[in-house]
Amino acid sequence: MSAEPTIARPLPAQVGREAFPYDLDSVDWNAVQADLRGLNVLTRPAQRKQHSKDFFWYSPILSAELSDCVADLVVKVSTEDDVRQVCAVAARRKLPLTIRAGGTGNYGQCVPLQGGLVMEVGGMARVLDIQPGRIRAQAGARMYDIEMAARETGQALRMWPSTWHVATIGGFISGGFGGIGSMRHGILRDPGNLLRARVMTVEREPRVIELVGDEIQQVQHAFGTNGVILDVEVALSPAVEWVHGTALFPSYRKALDFACAASTPALDLFLLSTVEARFSPFYTSMGDRFPPDGHAAFTMVAPASMPKFESLVAAHGGRISMAGTEAELLAAGLPPAYECAYNHTTLQALKLDRSWTYLQVAYAQPFDPAVVQRHLEIFGDDVLQHQDHARAGGEFGTFGILLVRWKGIDHQYELMREIESQGGCQIFNPHVVTIEDGGMKTIDNRQIAFKQQSDPMGLMNPGKTRGWRHDMARPG
Ligand SMILES: Cc1cc2nc3c(=O)[nH]c(=O)nc-3n(C[C@H](O)[C@H](O)[C@H](O)COP(=O)(O)OP(=O)(O)OC[C@H]3O[C@@H](n4cnc5c(N)ncnc54)[C@H](O)[C@@H]3O)c2cc1C
Repeated sequence: MSAEPTIARPLPAQVGREAFPYDLDSVDWNAVQADLRGLNVLTRPAQRKQHSKDFFWYSPILSAELSDCVADLVVKVSTEDDVRQVCAVAARRKLPLTIRAGGTGNYGQCVPLQGGLVMEVGGMARVLDIQPGRIRAQAGARMYDIEMAARETGQALRMWPSTWHVATIGGFISGGFGGIGSMRHGILRDPGNLLRARVMTVEREPRVIELVGDEIQQVQHAFGTNGVILDVEVALSPAVEWVHGTALFPSYRKALDFACAASTPALDLFLLSTVEARFSPFYTSMGDRFPPDGHAAFTMVAPASMPKFESLVAAHGGRISMAGTEAELLAAGLPPAYECAYNHTTLQALKLDRSWTYLQVAYAQPFDPAVVQRHLEIFGDDVLQHQDHARAGGEFGTFGILLVRWKGIDHQYELMREIESQGGCQIFNPHVVTIEDGGMKTIDNRQIAFKQQSDPMGLMNPGKTRGWRHDMARPG
């Protein structure tokens, strides 16, 4: 490989007591537990360990770095008063405070790098209000439950992660990017998707700050480093009974060409993901609907768009091997399309074979399939291709979640450099814990300025943002 070294291997995650600016060695955890009286506090080592993990195990690098990071205490909250009590205790005693919701994040997002308190917010799960075009829910409400509440009014969420049965709305806003629905509605940060959020500060006397519209960007993808989201209001759209489908193509290039042609406002698609045939052995329940010689496009299509969709598949030499509503597929023992896409693709593989890991790529727009064609040729059996097609910033775009044979750290970074060396590709490194080393690349100064208000002592999820320096802390 002939790549210029454009992507640097970051320093390992800053784990352990010494990375935290306040003295943790002399903390009296029994006294902290007494301060948390009335709350559900978990103290047993197995419980604390279980509540200190997420899906970082996809990365052998993070598995090695984070496996020993464990909370000193886990506290489960179910009301705003509970959150207030925990935030005040963390501030008074200067303890690291990491928020955990569904725990489905991929990069150790809710792993307490320096121990301290993990606050589990899954008990704050009520849907608070539904109006035409919007829904307000507590941050710990699961995305699927919110969708079910919206459906009762004939409406639906605009987007959700493929983990929606477990993932919460607060976790999606703090840790996520976009997902199922982004083909139609853009990514989380696109205008009009997030409407309002209430955030509690971590201070001796916690305050609630209300964020409206674009102000929510201050906490979006901030990994819970700058305030506890209490509840959020997001936009709804009229519900559609999507047709979940699989279209098969004779080559991956043809599948990608089809995806480019299908990325048009003339088709109403909620999901469009292409997955090459070498993934087929991992999709065990699909049988000949995803055979070893068929390159797949997994889709969710509006019924009204089906005739046009079918013609486009045929025009690209494809055939539809499966189509039905989610209920029909589930009744037939088949996965819904969204469990064949996004990071579920990686999960399908890792369930059967742990010798793989993954990389995330944002391609230059407009997407040129020749870039992926080149990667197929140069990476051989080391890299399996999967692309999610979505709108971002009003434009259609393409993102890759590649399955990568684990051959050690040096090999991973060689691949990253090669991918970034041509075609305007950008790696969203999933083997790192900080916001900036991962997807964002640069420090979001607006988020850091908000942190100075919402977490002035720098206690929240320490070690996850390079934008925060200990000298920024305001003494509590
Ligand atoms: C198989 C698989 C598929 C996935 N697909 C997608 C996808 O399609 N799109 C996508 O964007 N992501 C995806 N993810 C990542 C993840 O599932 C989502 O981002 C999910 O929304 C995270 O929600 P959670 O409740 O599990 O959050 P957690 O993992 O518990 O937390 C995520 C981050 O948010 C913070 N946080 C949680 N709640 C709050 C709160 N109330 N206030 C402040 N901070 C908070 C945490 O501290 C942590 O930093 C996927 C992951 C897996 C394993």
